[in-house]
Amino acid sequence: MTIPKSVLAELVQEIPQLRPQIYFKTSLTALSHAMEDQVLASSDQPLVIATFQQERFYRQEAHRYRRIANLTSQVYVLAAPETAFKNSSEYYETIAFSTQETLSKEWNLLVLGQQYSSCLICNECVNSGNDETYKLIAMDQARRFEGLWTFDRQVCVQAAIFLLNRIVKYRPELEEKVQAAREIYGINVDVGMGRKSGKIKSSSNRRYQNKVSKVVTQNPQFHDPFAQRLVTYLQASQYKLLKAYRSIAAQEQKQRLINIISNAMRRSLDPDEIIRVAVQELGEALLACRCLIYQCRALDATATITHEYLSSSVTSVVNQEWPLQDNPLFQKVVQIQEYVYVEDTSLLPNYCLTETSQGSKFQAKNCIETLISQWEIKSWLMVPLLYQGRLLGMVELHHCGSYPHNWSDDKIDLVQAIATQLGITLIQAETYVHLEELNQQLEALDRTRSNLIAITGHELRTPLSTIQVCLESLSQEPDMPAELRQVMLETALADADRMRHLVQDFLTLSHLESGTVEWNVEYLPLLECVDLALSSIRAHHSQKDLPNITTEVSTELPLVLADGEWLVEVLSKLLDNACKFTQSEGTVMIGATSNGNNMLEVTVSDTGRGIEPKRLEAVFDRFYQEEGALRRSVGGTGLGLAICRQIITRLGGKIWAKSEGKNRGSQFHFTIPIVSNSEQNREGKSKNKKQT
Ligand code: ADP
Repeated sequence: MTIPKSVLAELVQEIPQLRPQIYFKTSLTALSHAMEDQVLASSDQPLVIATFQQERFYRQEAHRYRRIANLTSQVYVLAAPETAFKNSSEYYETIAFSTQETLSKEWNLLVLGQQYSSCLICNECVNSGNDETYKLIAMDQARRFEGLWTFDRQVCVQAAIFLLNRIVKYRPELEEKVQAAREIYGINVDVGMGRKSGKIKSSSNRRYQNKVSKVVTQNPQFHDPFAQRLVTYLQASQYKLLKAYRSIAAQEQKQRLINIISNAMRRSLDPDEIIRVAVQELGEALLACRCLIYQCRALDATATITHEYLSSSVTSVVNQEWPLQDNPLFQKVVQIQEYVYVEDTSLLPNYCLTETSQGSKFQAKNCIETLISQWEIKSWLMVPLLYQGRLLGMVELHHCGSYPHNWSDDKIDLVQAIATQLGITLIQAETYVHLEELNQQLEALDRTRSNLIAITGHELRTPLSTIQVCLESLSQEPDMPAELRQVMLETALADADRMRHLVQDFLTLSHLESGTVEWNVEYLPLLECVDLALSSIRAHHSQKDLPNITTEVSTELPLVLADGEWLVEVLSKLLDNACKFTQSEGTVMIGATSNGNNMLEVTVSDTGRGIEPKRLEAVFDRFYQEEGALRRSVGGTGLGLAICRQIITRLGGKIWAKSEGKNRGSQFHFTIPIVSNSEQNREGKSKNKKQT
């Protein structure tokens, strides 16, 4: 047997002027206790009817009803049984109703005495199932009821009619007792009070009713506004408490998400892994249809989506090229460095389209409309991942479907908190990658430094030992023939000279590498530098040992932009090598052409011993020498070409070697910036002026 309507609904239908209000569960507990206490404290013998949603709620109160039953015989308790509760008449009447009954959603308590009456008639409000905070906070605190709490006797009588009707329906055998109650308390079943206000039939009832009316009107305590105010106060504190619970629950949720992401960070510094965890957690927590997190820069045209959270039946955008530059929402986020939230994309705010430049306005409008329709985005939240004003990525939440979704400020705060955390994570990961690179570079430098020390030590020790041996022999062997003495002395002098060169080249290279050289760059004719380099070669070599040297450097060539001293140093070293590694019968040639790229290409080629193709790059390494130190037939430090490369690079050019292989000659090429024609004219004029 089901009674589809609630007592409250019947009451409001009967007395339309009644205005139900919302009560929190705590308020109802307090009111019920107050009503029960009033029964216990008075000498009246009222009718008491209480309905409990579940047996367990009744059990907490059972002792009170036993005491109440000592005072009055008209006590009825109704509840949905769970274990032991059943129809019974042991201490008072208990009535068990099925959990399917509307009563299982109600909270009713009626006290109808001879001196006073009060009733509490309520229905539980069902919370929307997807409100996460309700799920998180203690359910009891959040339970709310809609209903009436009143001392109004007429309302109480009407409530008694409906409640007694239910009792008789569930336990027909109580009809007689219920009828007696009706008689005693002046409850007229036939006439609803909305129409005739519960009039009394019998004369005894009339007497009772008169007495009651007198009490109600004469005793103001039953309408005390003070009690009403207390209830309001109770309600207000309850509301505050609930708000506090909600905010704690929201904080808890925020903290939980941040912890999950922090844990992911602790496990790995891989941004991909962290984004994967964050997108899943955030999408679930925010009940998004689609959640995207991607890395991007402010000027990126598109982003490739690799991480996504999807609720069922929503289309995936993974592997899509997601437009950024043409998306006015993205542009807005970049511009204001803040989140942008469009609750209903069909009412997309105008700024999205008006603030883009006129030319791209049409394109932007098209782009966003395509995105909205293709991916069914109804509500759209974009939160930037920023680090010190730099955009590192974006979090997007989409709600898809026909109706918009409202993400509250709390929820948006939550996304922002996660975005901040993610920003830090991404920057940490980036820094870590840089650190690793730097570390590798440092390790490489350290290896080079160790090699350098070893090589330099070796290169210096070799001539030093020779000098030492020669000088020792000279001092210990006074009888040494004069020719041998001469050989010893020359060897010692040659090695001392070699050491001097080595130290000098080594210092030059260190200065160049450490950047402590002062450059004096000016416009120069290349030929002047070539002539200076040739004079230096001729001064250091005897004419008969030198191969034939030819120069093909036109005077018409544009001026080069270089430091003359260093350019002569390069040319001297290249010419020196060419002469060293070419027989006197061979030839050395210096040429230069403009390569049409504001550069002059200078070539020093020879017909000498050549270089194996696989060694063409190695010859520029420090201390690279084809022959080992002991087998060396010609002098040299092995630092010349390393110095040349440093100088040419600093002057803005490139240097490289070419050779067909062993004994097939070599060519060394380098480029050097030249002066453009217009600059050359200016330069020419100012030079002429200086001369006149
Ligand atoms: P070095 O003082 O030994 O000449 P460099 O750095 O100038 O030192 O040259 C390094 C090595 O490159 C030389 O030892 C030689 O083996 C090779 N090399 C340089 N120039 C030539 C050349 N013109 N022909 C053949 N080999 C050359």
